[in-house]
Amino acid sequence: MMFLTSLITILLFFQLSAAKAPPSKTSLVNTHERRSIYSCYVGLRKENWAFNGSAICRYEPAIQSMLYCLYEDTFEKGHSNKTLEKGFEELREFCYTPKFLNMTIADFYTSLNNGTHYIQEQPKATVNVTFPIVLNSTLRRGYYDAYYGYYYNHDIPYYFGGIICAYFVGVMLIAGLIRFLNYTPIKKVIFKQKLVNYVRGYVTLPTLWKKHAEPFSYLKVFTGYIPTRFETLVILGYLILHTIFMSYKYQYDPYHIIFAGHRAEVAQFVAYRSGILSFAHIPLIILFAGRNNFLQLISGLKHTSFIVFHKWLGRMMFLDAVIHSAAFTNYYLFYKKWDMVKVKTFWKFGIAATCFSGMLIFFSIAAFRRHCYETFMALHIVFAALFLYTCWEHVTMYSGIEWIYAAIAIWGVDRIVRIIRIALLGFPKADLQLVGSDLIRVTINKPKNFWKAKSGQYVFVSFLRPLCFWQSHPFTVMDSCVKDGELVIILKAKKGVTKLVKNYVERNGGRASMRLAIEGPYGSKSAAHRFDNVLLLAGGSGLPGPIAHAIELGKTTAATGKNFVQLIVAVRGFDMLNACKKELMALKDLNVNVHIYNSKQDATPGELISSNVSKNPEIVIEDTPSAVDHSEKALSENESTEQPLSVRDTSSVDFEFATFHAGRPNVEKLLKESLTHSGSLAVVCCGPPVFVDTARDQTAKAVVENPSNVIEYLEEYQAW
Ligand SMILES: Cc1cc2nc3c(=O)[nH]c(=O)nc-3n(C[C@H](O)[C@H](O)[C@H](O)COP(=O)(O)OP(=O)(O)OC[C@H]3O[C@@H](n4cnc5c(N)ncnc54)[C@H](O)[C@@H]3O)c2cc1C
Repeated sequence: MMFLTSLITILLFFQLSAAKAPPSKTSLVNTHERRSIYSCYVGLRKENWAFNGSAICRYEPAIQSMLYCLYEDTFEKGHSNKTLEKGFEELREFCYTPKFLNMTIADFYTSLNNGTHYIQEQPKATVNVTFPIVLNSTLRRGYYDAYYGYYYNHDIPYYFGGIICAYFVGVMLIAGLIRFLNYTPIKKVIFKQKLVNYVRGYVTLPTLWKKHAEPFSYLKVFTGYIPTRFETLVILGYLILHTIFMSYKYQYDPYHIIFAGHRAEVAQFVAYRSGILSFAHIPLIILFAGRNNFLQLISGLKHTSFIVFHKWLGRMMFLDAVIHSAAFTNYYLFYKKWDMVKVKTFWKFGIAATCFSGMLIFFSIAAFRRHCYETFMALHIVFAALFLYTCWEHVTMYSGIEWIYAAIAIWGVDRIVRIIRIALLGFPKADLQLVGSDLIRVTINKPKNFWKAKSGQYVFVSFLRPLCFWQSHPFTVMDSCVKDGELVIILKAKKGVTKLVKNYVERNGGRASMRLAIEGPYGSKSAAHRFDNVLLLAGGSGLPGPIAHAIELGKTTAATGKNFVQLIVAVRGFDMLNACKKELMALKDLNVNVHIYNSKQDATPGELISSNVSKNPEIVIEDTPSAVDHSEKALSENESTEQPLSVRDTSSVDFEFATFHAGRPNVEKLLKESLTHSGSLAVVCCGPPVFVDTARDQTAKAVVENPSNVIEYLEEYQAW
């Protein structure tokens, strides 16, 4: 901490002088003219010119030798007069003396022609050279090739960085195209192909290793989310590209014309390449973390997937930064210039930027993030800002600043759009009602012609109370089905801000009002309505999304007999049903099959209803299938699947339109049943992580087992 504080202090307050100069622009340098000028210059400057000072730009015979060298290089490589003239221009910039600045192209040709009358071979002995000379052609070609390798390595990382960006854009465009196919009959044709379904069932749909929504945990410290197979494939493709780009096409100079040794050359090339590649990651990293990510809009992929890519890009950027630092350290040690470079401003900012990127990664470990999300968030933003600033200062005199411009622009636009989104809803006063021991029903009034929440969309909510107004938490949002112009959120209290809110509502007798800042809506419209059958799987606090789907489908496509819609609700007790009672009641007269699975044994004997016997004869109670997947401990590890159903008398009568079951739903069986209906099937799932992972893997299995059926899995659960 001490180190960090002193580092920031030094950087921010004592090193700002370098920041005053405008940043250097990046330009590609591997042109014939540049290679030619530098190779001729290196070859000719060593001559013993009869001139006191920098002869190449001031002494006519030396100038004529340079022009002749340019001429030879240009025509030997098959270029035209035009290229030669570009070389003259480049030489003018290179020398930048009053004489050169006043020279026209015709003057260059005159000088070249005059020189050719007196030109001689390069003298072997050390004599004072008073005439133009022809640079030894072997040397000239050697220098030229050396500069080719040097400048090539300067330019190529920009292309490689661009390709990495293009790779992700390409993946998102393909995802967007596949998404667009939902609106055409082509998708159904493609999804009926056996090969396509094998690929989907084995490669793109399932979890990588049984877990995705459910975090893995080893010794409680090593924990995190495992990507899906699709996300893994995208990451793998990127890692392969990155490895190739870091190791491919280094053009070394066997004669060590530019560098004093191979070690220095390798160090410089690797350092430069890793540095530029590292910077090329920054815009994508910022874009993928943002809430207003245009690639998310195009692709329809979930924010969770972008956070997975964000993490991997961040890790590789850090690795590149470490390689860059190590290689340049090696380079300066080789030239014994370590003492000189270590006091340079750019060097100090480089060290700081590498440290900040390391700290960004270190303080993002899942164990810390899960337990101290707000601290993680605050540190992440502060470190990211300091990282961008130190990167800026690091390269302000060199090249690569454009990647930082892009990153800052992306970050800025995201923040502006977020502010606009919040301002548009104007900090409404919400009604908060305690509807269970830890559930709060939040209703918010909004202008009637304002945005309507599409099924499964979410908003970020800030509760404008003194202790938590700065926090912004995601919650699924529904348009009220009872009152126009009302948004509904069902909030389950956890340990942070949601607990504070619950305590506040409790203190106010179970009902309170509070100003909120609401940012959204986020998440794209699901394609569920494009399928003939829709199986909606909902559990725990994930009910709102699937219920909203059920209402929408029930009012539209299912109402016209186009869809067969089944809503499976898995709950532990009746609190969640009470919280969503109004929405569930809206399903009463809709063409939606509702099945409610309750896995909680109610302690009140009067409310206990044994399996198959209902207190209310209209409620059908069925035995829960016992063949539940071992991994499916969606609701609680301790619960048995065969438990008596408990129904609160206040709600039991209301849910007569639903079929009740004790225990947990068997996803595999439900899928099989859904597949008995003819036509395509969409499985939409949102619920506890294990439930979601089971649904994903079971759907993937169904895709493989029924290759001629069109089955799509639309997961709405998100965690990052
Ligand atoms: C897309 C989406 C939709 C959601 N919809 C609902 C919903 O409809 N109803 C509901 O009750 N919950 C929902 N959640 C979960 C909800 O966001 C968290 O429960 C809430 O943020 C916890 O706040 P807390 O301070 O009480 O958390 P804590 O008790 O501090 O942490 C609980 C967990 O929530 C995570 N978390 C905390 N803050 C955030 C945050 N700002 N962003 C993301 N994760 C966070 C933590 O990593 C931790 O694992 C949704 C989450 C996502 C990602």
